[in-house]
Amino acid sequence: MTRPVLIIGASMGGLRVAESLRRSGYAGPIVAIGEETHPPYNRPPLSKEVLAADVNHEAVAFPLGEAVADVEWILGRKVERVDLENQVVTDDLGVEHQYEALVIATGLRPRRLDLPGMPKKGTHVIRSLDDAIALRSEISEGTRVVVYGAGFIGCEVAATAKKLGAHVTVIGKGPVPLLRPLGLELARDIQARQEAQGVNFFMGSTITKVTGGDQVESVLLDSGVELYTQVLIEAIGSEPNLELLHDNDVDLDGGVGADSSLRVLRKDGTVWQNVYVVGDVARFPIPQFCDYPRRVEHWNIPTEMARKVGKEVALQLSGDTNAFEEEISKPFAPIPSFWSDQFDVSLLAYGLIDQADEITLLDGEVGSDCIYGYYKRGELVGVCGVGMRSKVMGYRNQVGLTHA
Ligand SMILES: Cc1cc2nc3c(=O)[nH]c(=O)nc-3n(C[C@H](O)[C@H](O)[C@H](O)COP(=O)(O)OP(=O)(O)OC[C@H]3O[C@@H](n4cnc5c(N)ncnc54)[C@H](O)[C@@H]3O)c2cc1C
Repeated sequence: MTRPVLIIGASMGGLRVAESLRRSGYAGPIVAIGEETHPPYNRPPLSKEVLAADVNHEAVAFPLGEAVADVEWILGRKVERVDLENQVVTDDLGVEHQYEALVIATGLRPRRLDLPGMPKKGTHVIRSLDDAIALRSEISEGTRVVVYGAGFIGCEVAATAKKLGAHVTVIGKGPVPLLRPLGLELARDIQARQEAQGVNFFMGSTITKVTGGDQVESVLLDSGVELYTQVLIEAIGSEPNLELLHDNDVDLDGGVGADSSLRVLRKDGTVWQNVYVVGDVARFPIPQFCDYPRRVEHWNIPTEMARKVGKEVALQLSGDTNAFEEEISKPFAPIPSFWSDQFDVSLLAYGLIDQADEITLLDGEVGSDCIYGYYKRGELVGVCGVGMRSKVMGYRNQVGLTHA
């Protein structure tokens, strides 16, 4: 029997790989194993409009088109172990799955607060549909909500909870929310806009204790302030899902290490010929923006990676060595992009803003619609706009280091 292309992680990255394989002419078997019970769905709405409305799978599901109708989806099943030498993975029921080529698309999981005696009820994270459903059921008019973490997910959930009528306080370690992804001036502006809508901020603060037995009652800050709350949302970052690869010779330093064509790296920097990685979990070279390999947790990245990986795997398995080598020689060179919606503020960005050593207002005015440019060594590595969408899009092809 022909061994399949096996995809671990049945979410956006996994689905896009399956689609790309078929588009690239691969007609053999594809198996996708996913820990969640839901077929692939879109995560960004989970902290935005879907959380404010009725959260269900239908509202966020990706359409499964004709091209992937014959993919075998094994859902609600976690891959516990991968054996790259013997080309076999083992799931949590002990079932072994052999493969011809393997794609890792396991994404991230939320980092949790590591404090003794954390209450079980009222404490939440938001990464999955089930997380969003659980959170939604606890927020209504007048609910006291504390959001710990002032990154994009924290700020978006704060805005959504406020729109639902909750009393919302955001606690963050830095001086302003969103400092790293936006820079000081725009970050201050976003905080002011959130405050104008009634969200409270305790910046420069750390939670030292969470009180309550079974149900969260309050959080204590390092300043001694105690905030009473019914809901605590932990939005303090994410960890890559790597454990399944631990027993293998793989570079797992902060993500699954990949070469410029997204093949998984051994610790000595050579590649596993038939093992690829896509999505948030991948740590890959992106020299047009950054001097070191890194993860990029933006929505456009899994899709663009999957387009390339699907093509590479299809060519590799077709036996057309020349065409495969040609595709492998083309480095993956995406332009990262993200958006964020908070109240009536729509942010759109291209490039890697956190690389900037200088930030300039390019258009508009602070506090209104505006565009910021982010420079590294004098070259534009990112743009971010509040509103002015078509103008921001006009910068898309201008970002990147020309020396790369
Ligand atoms: C709440 C939220 C809001 C977001 N908003 C935005 C936004 O506004 N703009 C933007 O650009 N990006 C946003 N993102 C980021 C974007 O959604 C991600 O970049 C994208 O979902 C990554 O896709 P992925 O397929 O790599 O990983 P994931 O979508 O995380 O999928 C990985 C899948 O693998 C499964 N898995 C993990 N380990 C195993 C295992 N051992 N065995 C089997 N299955 C496993 C997981 O359960 C999961 O289903 C947001 C993310 C979240 C969570």
